[in-house]
Amino acid sequence: MKPAAFEYHAPGSAEETAALLTELGEEAKVLAGGQSLVPMLALRLAAFGHLVDLRRVDELRGIEHRDGTVRIGATTTQSTVQRSEEIGRLVPLLAYATPLIGHFQIRNRGTIGGSLAHADAAAEYPAVALTLDAELEALSVRGRRTIPAGHFFTGTWTTALAEDELLTAVVLPVWRGPCGFAVEEFARRSGDFALAGATVAVGLGPDGRIDRCAVGLFGLGPAPRRARTVETEVLGTEPDQDKADEIGDLATADLDSIPSDLHGSAAYRRRVGAAMVARAWRRAVREAVHG
Ligand SMILES: Cc1cc2nc3c(=O)[nH]c(=O)nc-3n(C[C@H](O)[C@H](O)[C@H](O)COP(=O)(O)OP(=O)(O)OC[C@H]3O[C@@H](n4cnc5c(N)ncnc54)[C@H](O)[C@@H]3O)c2cc1C
Repeated sequence: MKPAAFEYHAPGSAEETAALLTELGEEAKVLAGGQSLVPMLALRLAAFGHLVDLRRVDELRGIEHRDGTVRIGATTTQSTVQRSEEIGRLVPLLAYATPLIGHFQIRNRGTIGGSLAHADAAAEYPAVALTLDAELEALSVRGRRTIPAGHFFTGTWTTALAEDELLTAVVLPVWRGPCGFAVEEFARRSGDFALAGATVAVGLGPDGRIDRCAVGLFGLGPAPRRARTVETEVLGTEPDQDKADEIGDLATADLDSIPSDLHGSAAYRRRVGAAMVARAWRRAVREAVHG
């Protein structure tokens, strides 16, 4: 199938893009890498009268390390993220998650902002952003604003972005001191979206005990979520790999709204989710203790 007819726009700046989005209203849709939007248009699952392509907006691309954070422009491709030595060193969780996204052809075109704005519940980047308490920068004709990841992902494929708002960047904090990170997911075939997955970030204090912990879950609800019970429970304890199964069970015990479809029942996904948390816990703790 071919997409329904649309008018194509390629503005040269972020401000111009924001103005166009306001002018064109709900008939307009931003086009970034096209790896989610174009299949939806081609299958006629969606139709828009106007596509506003970001490819000429250079200011939305790039990676910048500043004041204990890494700021990544929205149209930075996933393969640029994957190749970045700076991200590997400063935001390892993002580096670990990137190769799990689709295939390299998709990562060559797909952008970090596109993945965050698309907000698929089973996608890796939204879970990483939520786990690391990232901040998302948005622009509209009303001005700029910053949205904490905890408020950004509002439901199935929905975010806090207004219809006329452009996501311009994501800002991720750099964790200092002994810390470890891991992402684990289960997909039926390599490159498929995960059935369930988990991210773990663990930081150790001077006494070697856990003083910082974040556990993210994806594919286990309408949006990525945090396992807050686990995060509180492990604070002040020894970083113990043997606790992994217990932590996996605790992280998934009280989840509601787990999807159930032909790929897997909610009960199955819960079990897979618990196993992914356990695996990610072991790897993150090993990295925090041994580097
Ligand atoms: C076969 C296949 C397998 C895939 N597997 C995975 C996977 O395992 N994990 C995963 O996470 N993803 C996967 N993807 C999706 C891929 O990561 C996409 O690149 C990503 O979801 C969207 O990024 P994009 O730049 O292509 O955005 P687009 O497709 O261009 O846009 C997606 C949506 O985001 C909006 N948007 C994009 N950029 C902005 C912006 N700056 N501001 C406001 N709105 C914006 C668009 O309007 C649109 O609604 C897969 C895709 C395919 C085709």
